[in-house]
Order: sequence, then structure tokens, then C-alpha cells
Amino acid sequence: MNRIEKVIANLAKNNMCGYYVDSKNDVVPLIDTLIAEGSTVAVGGSVSLFECGVIDHLRCGKYNFLDRYAPDLNPKQIQHIFLESFRADVYLSSSNAITEDGMLFNVDGNSNRVAALCYGPKSVIVIVGWNKIVRDFEEAIHRVKTIAAPKNNMRLITGTYCYTEGACSDERSGNGCKSIERICCNYVLTSYQRQKDRIKVIMVGENLGY
Ligand code: SF4
Repeated sequence: MNRIEKVIANLAKNNMCGYYVDSKNDVVPLIDTLIAEGSTVAVGGSVSLFECGVIDHLRCGKYNFLDRYAPDLNPKQIQHIFLESFRADVYLSSSNAITEDGMLFNVDGNSNRVAALCYGPKSVIVIVGWNKIVRDFEEAIHRVKTIAAPKNNMRLITGTYCYTEGACSDERSGNGCKSIERICCNYVLTSYQRQKDRIKVIMVGENLGY
């Protein structure tokens, strides 16, 4: 059994449904089968979703897309979209890491994404490149603190320590980081799910996002 097969088998043991596609080009045709026309759809902040063409697809008119990336939104409108996202039929996101034993690990600043992952939307679709697979929880934390968070801080141009130094000031907990722009505020390990297959994970055989 290869690493991706192992992740998908362990996701099933945790009541999450795993899928595999070879390429990012295969993601949109698959999600098209998982989202009914007319559904209300929302997304978490994600570079992976852009790389797979998912954001463009959600704008095609088939769905009621709560588009947080629509041009010229003011902060109040964005906040409204984040709150409405909890009522969505489908929520799409990526994950900062996925462990070999089938758990998702995510770290957020604003935390609208991890909140919706935990509760609210009826269905959640998580799109994960194979670069996000880690051995265990310890490696997931290490990945976030040395790769995901610094790169996201670069993208968002924050004033945090990792933005200037390339790694967390305190890799294990981040406790040395008191920046108001800190993007590591809530650490969420998504393990066993009571609601079977509410969370669907699409594993992609390519690098995606950070
Ligand atoms: S806790 Fe602060 S310094 Fe550490 S990775 Fe997060 S934002 Fe960067």
C-alpha cells in the first residue's frame, strides 16, 4: 500500500471519505459530481483551490457561490460571507497537513475556516496535494511552522517573525509570537467524525499550495 492509499484507508476508519486524482486538472470534474446544481457553496482561504481551478469553476453560475474573493468587497461584506458560510450546503477548503493515520491539521488566524470545517456546512470537501502528507501530529506541527505559516505570511505580507526570518519564533507552540497579525491562533486536529462522510478529502498526486 502506498502512502496515499494508506491515508485514504485511514480516513475511512475516521469516518471521512477519501478520493484520489492524479492531477489538479482532475479536481473540478470530481467536485462537479459531489456538488448538486443550485447548492450554496463557500470556501476557506486556499491557494490550492485557485491552483486547481476550483474558484473559477464555482463562479460558473451553477451554484450560489458565496464568493469571498469577489472584487471590491469591504470588510463588513467579507465578514457577512464568513458568517453565511456556516449555513452553506458545501464548504471547500484545503488543509495545512494530513497525517498518515487520516487526520487533518489546520492552523488559522481569523479561524473562520477551521470553524466551518468543524461545524456548520452540511458537506465539506478538502482538497490536498501530496506534499501535505506527514507522518504524524508532530510532523504536522513542524510542517505548519516551517513551511505553511511562513509562506502564507509571505503571501499576506504580515509583520510576523516568520515573515522576516522564514520560520516560527517558537516552532513547537509559537508562544514567542505576539504579533497582532499572527496567523497561528487556533490549532485544529480533525480526527474521528461522528457524521460519516460529511468530510470528503480529495488527495491529488501533485504538489498544491503550501
Ligand atoms: S506563530 Fe507567529 S511566527 Fe510562528 S509561524 Fe505563526 S505567525 Fe509565524
